[in-house]
Amino acid sequence: MTFAPTDIPAGARYSPAPDMARLRRLRRFLFAALGYGALCVLLVIGAWVGTMSGRAVAIVCAFCLMAHLALYAAFYTNATAHWKEPTGALAHLFVGFCVVALCCALIPEFRGVALQVFFLIIAYDAARLSRLQIAVASGLMVCGLALSPLNAWLFPSGEHALQDELLNFVMAVAYLPALMGIGHVVRSAQQRQRRQKEALETALSQLQALSERDVLTGATNRRQAMVLFEHAQTHQRQTRQPLSVCLLDIDFFKQINDHHGHAVGDRVLRGLVELARESLAGAHTVARWGGEEFLILMLDTPVPAAVQAMNRLRERLRDHDWASVAPGVQVDVSVGVYGHRPDDTLSQALERVDQALYAAKQQGRGRVVQYRA
Ligand code: GH3
Ligand code: MG
Ligand code: MG
Repeated sequence: MTFAPTDIPAGARYSPAPDMARLRRLRRFLFAALGYGALCVLLVIGAWVGTMSGRAVAIVCAFCLMAHLALYAAFYTNATAHWKEPTGALAHLFVGFCVVALCCALIPEFRGVALQVFFLIIAYDAARLSRLQIAVASGLMVCGLALSPLNAWLFPSGEHALQDELLNFVMAVAYLPALMGIGHVVRSAQQRQRRQKEALETALSQLQALSERDVLTGATNRRQAMVLFEHAQTHQRQTRQPLSVCLLDIDFFKQINDHHGHAVGDRVLRGLVELARESLAGAHTVARWGGEEFLILMLDTPVPAAVQAMNRLRERLRDHDWASVAPGVQVDVSVGVYGHRPDDTLSQALERVDQALYAAKQQGRGRVVQYRA
């Protein structure tokens, strides 16, 4: 079990597990592949009823199949994870562009719907493509579509062929600004949504960190300490490792407040938490239990080691130069230590550690006392 850390980095961001991101990319790819599958089915029906060349349809379908197998391999092996756009929007666009160009070149009947298909391809990835990429793709499409009227002009085949092709071309060019505008609007909306989601996640993790901290000292607060205490109990029951519970109370703290003022008392509390964190290395929790009392949970630590650690901390607090807080401030503490047993309840353990602290106070303060039944 990993014990919850004392310090949760503020603003920690949530990012999805890599496997989830890969699955999402694969799902997205399969959805696009279904679209191409539907196109192939329509082309095969066209060839079946004799309106399109079977050979041309076979070439287009074979290209679709091969391109999508290659894309699938890239997504499946997670090779796209390091791409600037891991969903492979540009690769999708390239494949789509090739399919449309191939259809236009080999299947004259397709040319009338080429623009709509192209529109769908761009719209699908509009949010992931930059304005420049959409503009370049649209420019290439215009060049591709211009081949038809050029072909009709160079090799006239019918009375109205050139006019028809020109009309198609002009309509296609007229569509493009609208297409780019829609792409831009969709992309902006998605980016806004992403930014809002990130801000919300950051705010949530900050709120969670705040709800677990004591406002004055930044130590774990009492509510979170109870949660961590239960985790520590579970850990002990599972591992049978020792768990030491310590309750530390500043001696005559009221006098510090009375002589130096409440603000100095506050600074002493903050300083104590800092020194305790420095002094207690490892996965230990320092929690403000209330007022000038602190609960310290020492995982995997037997009582003698905990007593030793508390004595070290006590000496450090006593010998610390508190002059920067206020001249003449002296701090000493009393500590009770209890060796938690796996079958203890929370209230039993708290009662016993409290008894040990009481004994330390009774015996004259400024000492560490171990609980004895
Ligand atoms: P003992 O050695 O018996 O523990 O004596 P004590 O003076 O430390 O204990 P007592 O319970 O008499 O007084 C505790 C004082 O702690 C009283 C209270 O005003 C002060 N206190 C509690 N919370 C805060 C706080 O957040 N800031 C400051 N500055 N003082 C606090
Ligand atoms: Mg006190
Ligand atoms: Mg007290």
